[in-house]
Amino acid sequence: MFKTDQKNDIIAENDIWEVEYPVMEHFYTIQGEGAHTGRSSYFIRTAGCDVNCWWCDVKDSWEEEGHPKLTVRELVDAAKQSKAPFVVITGGEPLLHDLLPLTLGLKSAGLQTHIETSGSSPLSGQLDWITLSPKRFKKPTEEVFAYVDELKVVVLTNKDLKWAEENAAKCPEGTRLLLQPEWETPKSVDLIVDYVKENPEWGISLQTHKFLKVP
Ligand code: SF4
Repeated sequence: MFKTDQKNDIIAENDIWEVEYPVMEHFYTIQGEGAHTGRSSYFIRTAGCDVNCWWCDVKDSWEEEGHPKLTVRELVDAAKQSKAPFVVITGGEPLLHDLLPLTLGLKSAGLQTHIETSGSSPLSGQLDWITLSPKRFKKPTEEVFAYVDELKVVVLTNKDLKWAEENAAKCPEGTRLLLQPEWETPKSVDLIVDYVKENPEWGISLQTHKFLKVP
């Protein structure tokens, strides 16, 4: 688990519960992709992203402006009302925000904290599961690699397979290694299937929520 160096007692004094985050959406659903596929989970999609992937399927999350600001209290209360055992903090790029107050709040409510990040901004928070989805448009910090639980690389072309190998070489032993076809690039499926057959330490992540039409 990644624990930030920040002192919890300092944060507690400042009352984590009223700290606000710009949030595009938050909802109870099924994790559709990656190592925890098929598990019920609560999603918090923060607003703001500076990575600019051209194929991004959540471009509405890029700007913070126009999205409501919600407090830790509001977000934790909503997540607690679901039966989700863990909360996925995603974006946007969630690490544009200091995640310590939010993750402390979630953990105090007995919820596990997962994050899906490009890793391009400094790590923060108390995180039980880190999914690194590195983007060539804005590379991950070197610091993040020591804490990665799952490496999930979106693949469009052969260049992405090379990018996946470069990133995997920096991850701890035992990291789940997953390649995910870009949804609008069906030819990437053949690339990935051939690659995984040749390199069985890798697996395939599919965006099952899109097949199943689960929001
Ligand atoms: S990092 Fe994620 S949210 Fe940001 S542009 Fe890329 S795919 Fe979209």
